[in-house]
Amino acid sequence: MLDDPKSLAGNPTDENVADQVMPEAKPKELSFGPLSKVHVFWLAGMSCDGCTVAVAGATQPPLENLLAGTVTGVPQVILHHPVLSVEAGEEFMKNFYKAERGELDAPYVICYEGSIADERIAWATGGYFSALGAEHLGGDQHRPIPSTEWLTRLAPGAAAVIAVGTCATWGGIPAAAGNPTNSMGVMDFLGKDYRGTAGLPIINIPGCAPVGDNFTETVAMVLLFLQGIGPLPEFDELGRPSWLFSDTVHTKCVRGGYYEEGSFATKYGQKECLVEIGCWGPVVQCNITSRGAINHMGGCMNAGGVCIGCTMPGFPDKFAPFYKMPPGSNISSNAVRTYGAVIRRLRRMTMKYQNMEPRWEENDAVPSGWGAFQKPSLVNQAMHYLYQKMQYSGSTRPGDVVSKESLKAKGFHTPEV
Ligand code: SF4
Ligand code: SF4
Repeated sequence: MLDDPKSLAGNPTDENVADQVMPEAKPKELSFGPLSKVHVFWLAGMSCDGCTVAVAGATQPPLENLLAGTVTGVPQVILHHPVLSVEAGEEFMKNFYKAERGELDAPYVICYEGSIADERIAWATGGYFSALGAEHLGGDQHRPIPSTEWLTRLAPGAAAVIAVGTCATWGGIPAAAGNPTNSMGVMDFLGKDYRGTAGLPIINIPGCAPVGDNFTETVAMVLLFLQGIGPLPEFDELGRPSWLFSDTVHTKCVRGGYYEEGSFATKYGQKECLVEIGCWGPVVQCNITSRGAINHMGGCMNAGGVCIGCTMPGFPDKFAPFYKMPPGSNISSNAVRTYGAVIRRLRRMTMKYQNMEPRWEENDAVPSGWGAFQKPSLVNQAMHYLYQKMQYSGSTRPGDVVSKESLKAKGFHTPEV
């Protein structure tokens, strides 16, 4: 056993965490591009492995293609992953030591899954929270090396550090109220001044679990950048890929039309907007409804679930209690309900008219054997007459005979025959 628990790279909690963790940290020179391969070290802290499962299911690009080096322009990924790698024991760990000594044959990137726990708390009772490999202390004594310590050792030489999942990005569930392990995100741990050797601050791909494609796509783009053939992808002020996280989930939700027309579900299983039964979508930055969970399938509202804000730094506490209507939604949904009901009725009237083939109107009959087709009422017909007047003003209604004179009057030149 060691005397000094700080040698376990316990988590400083002061503001200048980076200074304490890496006082000598200076970017090392690495020549990027052309690269045939890049090592990726996957470290797992306080994690449920859900991020690994999500990434293993990614399809654009698939993890297998990154590993096989078959994504055009992207260097092959040599993945060192505690669950997915086939090597074990010393054979698995040797590359971690090589990376620390700067002896690898290619640049490396760190991916961190799970929150960073304060190992000093575990150390006080002789244990550890999460570790990878062990240091031989002599005799039969070994010290498990915390994942946090590996991050401290490898971060100074990493081309980039990518936090994957909400636990690694912001602290997530292990950092929820009470936080007995003093858990935090990678950014809190390494600090705002941290830069990888490629000059990048920490990249954050949140989600509990994240969309796997969000991760593999970002990795591929960062690798193209390291390769020297792609631009630096755009990230927002919290290090999120901005093309993936700038919009709210509400803006692309499959139920957005119901919201706009003021139609709200009152219980689960209904098709309408879920805001009144607890959906936080209008204020949550997430792309799962357009991208799907895996292979463009699934995703919270697509599958009937409300948004509980799992991509957000405030998750979970600021979105509790789950499944209760967010207070702000009361105002917006009531406002929408008033004008949405009128808009919805007007649209149904137009829809009814657009469901009529012109021949049916002429014959005053619908030749469908499926049921009695209700014809538009007189009021409806009158309104539609006005509607069409507006629709075709300044243009010609299909089927209308247009004289050359009227075309000329509108500025059209017709050939003389
Ligand atoms: S279900 Fe949620 S995200 Fe979808 S439209 Fe309603 S409030 Fe917006
Ligand atoms: S819709 Fe909400 S709960 Fe679902 S993944 Fe996105 S942020 Fe998480």
